[in-house]
Amino acid sequence: MVLDANWAVKWLTLCAQAMAEHRVELIELDRAIGDSDHGENMDRGFQAVLAKLGESTPETPGAALKMTAMTLMSKVGGAAGPLYGTAFLRAATALGDSAQIDPSAWADALAAARDGIVARGKAESGDKTMVDAWTPAVDAARAAADGGSTDVLGVLVAAAEAAEAGAVATDPMIARKGRASYLGERSAGHRDPGAVSSALILRAAVGAAA
Ligand code: ADP
Ligand code: MG
Ligand code: MG
Repeated sequence: MVLDANWAVKWLTLCAQAMAEHRVELIELDRAIGDSDHGENMDRGFQAVLAKLGESTPETPGAALKMTAMTLMSKVGGAAGPLYGTAFLRAATALGDSAQIDPSAWADALAAARDGIVARGKAESGDKTMVDAWTPAVDAARAAADGGSTDVLGVLVAAAEAAEAGAVATDPMIARKGRASYLGERSAGHRDPGAVSSALILRAAVGAAA
C-alpha cells in the first residue's frame, strides 16, 4: 500500500462520507456543550471539498490537502473552520510535493497539523478540544514510525486508534477553550465534538488505505 494522490482523494472522499453519516451525532454533541452546529459545519465543509475534487484531480497528496485547507477555511466558519484549515495547510506544507507519504512523513504531517491547531487556538492537552485527539495520534504515529514500521497502514491505524481513545478521554474534562468553556464544570460528562470529528478524519485515512 502506498499513500499517494489517489489515496488522498479517497481519504477526503471518505471524510465527506463520515461527516455526512455522523452529522447528527456531531450536532448532538455540540448541542450539549456548544451551539449545535459542528455537524452542520463539518458536513458542509467536506461536501465542498468533494465538489472541488469533482472539478480537478490533485497531483500530489500535498496538493489535495492544500485544496482541502482552503475549502474548509472558506466554508466551515466558527472555531473549527480556521483550526482545520490551518491543520490541513500545515500538513500540506510538511508533505511538500512528494508523490508518496511514508510512515515517518505521515507522523511529521500529523505533528505539523497538531502544531498548527495549537498555534491557532492556544489549547493545551486536557483543555477538552480537538487537540486531545490530535496529540495522542501524533505520539502514536511517531512511536509506530520510529519503531521501524515500514507498514504505513499500521501507522495510520495507530494514529486513528489513539485519536478515538483521545476523544473518549475528553468526557470527564472541563473545557478551557472554545464555547464549551463558557459552561465551566458543567462541560464535564460530555464528549468534545471537535475531538470526535478529528478521530473520524483519522479513521477515514485508514479506510482509504485498507
Ligand atoms: P463553534 O464553537 O464556533 O460553533 P464548532 O462547533 O464547529 O465551532 O467547533 C467546535 C470545536 O472546535 C470544539 O469541539 C473544539 O474541539 C474545537 N475548538 C474550539 N476552540 C478551540 C481552541 N481554542 N483550540 C482547539 N480546538 C478548539
Ligand atoms: Mg459549534
Ligand atoms: Mg458555531
